[in-house]
Amino acid sequence: MGKLEPMVKKCNSCKICEKICPTGAIHVDSNNNKKWYYFPRKCIKCYRCVDKCPRNAIMIFP
Ligand code: SF4
Ligand code: SF4
Repeated sequence: MGKLEPMVKKCNSCKICEKICPTGAIHVDSNNNKKWYYFPRKCIKCYRCVDKCPRNAIMIFP
C-alpha cells in the first residue's frame, strides 16, 4: 500500500485534494505555511486526490 506525499514546491494549496477525499485523510492548512497533512490510517487508497490534483503534486510511494 502506497504512502502519499505532496511535492511541496508544486502544491499551491488549492485544497481540491482535501475536498475530494471521501474520508478526510488530507488537511491543507493554507494559513500555516501551506502545510499539507496526511493521515494514512484514514486513507482508503482510492487515489482520487492523486487524479484530481491540478498540479500533479501528490506522489505515491510504495
Ligand atoms: S490538490 Fe494538489 S495543488 Fe491542490 S492542495 Fe492538494 S496537493 Fe496541493
Ligand atoms: S487516496 Fe483517497 S482516501 Fe487516500 S487521501 Fe487520497 S482521496 Fe483520500
